[in-house]
Amino acid sequence: MDFEQASPALLAVEHVRKRYFARAGFLSAPKPVDAVVDVSFTVARGKTLGIVGESGCGKSTTGRLALGLEAPDGGSVYFDGVPLPKYGSPAWRAIRRRIQLVFQDPLAALDRRLPIAAQIRESLDIHAIGDTKGRDQRVLALLTSVGLTKHHASRYPHELSGGQRQRVVIARALATEPDLLVCDEPVAALDVSIQAQVVNLLMDLQTDLGLAMIFISHDLKVVRQVSHRVAVMYLGVIVEEADSDHIFKHPRHPYTQALVASSPTPRQKIKTPMLLTGEPPDPAARPAGCPFHPRCPKVMEVCRSVPPLAREISPHHHLACHLSEPVTLEAMAS
Ligand code: SF4
Repeated sequence: MDFEQASPALLAVEHVRKRYFARAGFLSAPKPVDAVVDVSFTVARGKTLGIVGESGCGKSTTGRLALGLEAPDGGSVYFDGVPLPKYGSPAWRAIRRRIQLVFQDPLAALDRRLPIAAQIRESLDIHAIGDTKGRDQRVLALLTSVGLTKHHASRYPHELSGGQRQRVVIARALATEPDLLVCDEPVAALDVSIQAQVVNLLMDLQTDLGLAMIFISHDLKVVRQVSHRVAVMYLGVIVEEADSDHIFKHPRHPYTQALVASSPTPRQKIKTPMLLTGEPPDPAARPAGCPFHPRCPKVMEVCRSVPPLAREISPHHHLACHLSEPVTLEAMAS
């Protein structure tokens, strides 16, 4: 789903695919599992693309492909206009400094044996950023930028709360002054009250530093809050993508409509919410035709055999569905 933007995209992902092979049992032959089928999107400088979908939809694999942590089986990833180099190569390491990842579980992401200042400093050492004294000062500045103090510098991860640990992970990610942060379920492991603080921190940092972000989450409310554009994924494909305000006011794909209806804002009135039924997506049992057709309340005969192609239905609004008539939240409520 290519879309025009005022300035060249910082990241362009074009028709990437990723297939794994998984065994159902110890003695069974490995079977192909298509985690990402044909995904394209761009991320503009200083903007956030939210990728939302249920578990198993391929959103985390998409994030890893965008980071270059995994090589796609097909398609291309361009960062700042050049193809992403091979994983682990010197050119990849140079670009990797400009693309950082914030993990879901901060405790797993941090080294329990090292005080947090040492872990933030490690990034500066690896990328040879600044001199010895400058690196110490930069560590303190990074701690301050994420709402921690010098008193936290000598603490170990287990001495911090979950929210504080995620702040350390964010500080470490910012150490190399990246242009792009890939945040994979960054608040999913946190208490609800702490989630809002970390989300606000990420939004403030984006404003201050001009970061671009890919924000991957199953939580529509959070994605809505942070994203300029939103891509909805289902079984390895983007089924709908549009500007955040637009997609939440005018969802067109039945899956997006069900997601939005299950997470309305206080001002949205949905009299007959379209609830998701059936089994959640299983990449190992991909149906023919439209991948959503076994759960779709609007399924038609064509949907069972012909995969819908993504097309631009209005400026910057892309949809992969055989339905073509506009459907609004008002129509859903009538
Ligand atoms: Fe539903 Fe058919 Fe659209 Fe798929 S293509 S979402 S099954 S109407």
